[in-house]
Amino acid sequence: MVQMLIKGVVFRLGGGLPNEAKFLLEDFRLAVNGAIRAGLQARVTSRNALTKLAYKDFRREHPSMYAQHLVSAFEVAGALLRNHRRRVRKGNGDHVVPYVRRLFMKAENQAYKLDRENGVVDLPIRARCHVTLKLVLSDYHRRYIEDRSYSLGSLTVFPDRVIIAFRKDCPKPYAPESALSLDTNERSLDGVVAKCDDVKAVKAEFPDIVLIQQRHHDRRKRLQKKKAHDKRTSRRLCRREGKREHHRVEYRLHQVANAVLSFAENQKSAVVLEDLRGFRPKWNRELNRRLSLWPRRKLHQIIEYKAQWRGIPVVKVDPRNSSRTCPICGRIHDSRMGTEFKCECGWHLDRHINASLNLLQTAISKGMAGGLRFNPGAFQHDVMMTLYDPERGAQSEPNGTSGIGGGDLIRHHPIIQ
Ligand SMILES: [Zn+2]
Repeated sequence: MVQMLIKGVVFRLGGGLPNEAKFLLEDFRLAVNGAIRAGLQARVTSRNALTKLAYKDFRREHPSMYAQHLVSAFEVAGALLRNHRRRVRKGNGDHVVPYVRRLFMKAENQAYKLDRENGVVDLPIRARCHVTLKLVLSDYHRRYIEDRSYSLGSLTVFPDRVIIAFRKDCPKPYAPESALSLDTNERSLDGVVAKCDDVKAVKAEFPDIVLIQQRHHDRRKRLQKKKAHDKRTSRRLCRREGKREHHRVEYRLHQVANAVLSFAENQKSAVVLEDLRGFRPKWNRELNRRLSLWPRRKLHQIIEYKAQWRGIPVVKVDPRNSSRTCPICGRIHDSRMGTEFKCECGWHLDRHINASLNLLQTAISKGMAGGLRFNPGAFQHDVMMTLYDPERGAQSEPNGTSGIGGGDLIRHHPIIQ
């Protein structure tokens, strides 16, 4: 079975939303909320049941609304009802009845037309009444709109923007000729690129992510103190801080992921990562708080998602004992090491890079890395390749186009031991 990838692309509207369309958004919201009420009363959540239940009543009040939009409103209502039911079943928190406040509408791909040359959406409102929405196009947008290998999914209209879902069959991942194994840490990805008797250290650094988090954490603390008398304002400001922090961190994570994947693609590598599920972050005494695991999980998510689009194989491995095992003799040590892993057999290596060797061995022993073989003893202690470095990486193009051609960002310098 071929997996379908879906990417939602946000477009600003040139010239704003026509009035007719604004009325349509309001009608759509009425229809969704009406169907939610009806569905709650009759205890149904499927689109068909909701259509049967609410179609006639709504039709009477809004005789002219395009039928497909109405069905789509029932679909949205059904999804909200199913979420609601799940929350109630789990019994967590307050059971607020779902109600849509935000103005928006969703149209399936047969209910609108897109002129892919000029970026104009034709949206039917009712019989003989269509509106056109002019999309603002940048190079990033043109990549999706002009590439016919993307088929169109749903269109979601908001008062100031639209989101179009582009769909594509998942490309089949290539057969790897090497492996890029990475240990994920707070400030960097550390690992190796390995192929038979050629094993070199690689590093992608993102020291600023911890700094961003630290700065925002301090700022939130200060806000809470300053606005202690006004809980609501404090909460609102903190939420805004949180959003800014997420944006900044995610921007950097995308850059790191692009650099890593361009390198993997050039080397025809399978990417090996640790499975972070069930992993608990440790208390950091220096910062006196638990370091968030979110950026590391998010980085994995971004890498996996982008790799799917590019046909790069990704392997996730159970990281148990990966930081305590000697990849040469297989001894498992009890205590945590310092910055360097040392074994009685004479093996010594940077702790994180050593962990990545173990991740790779696990992947290979479980048959997860194709027919790849490698010899950990062939590790070259004197080479370190930089996949990403924030000072140079920041110069790459901002909107996700990977300006990193692989080769130009890779520098060789002696490994520090
Ligand atoms: Zn050993």
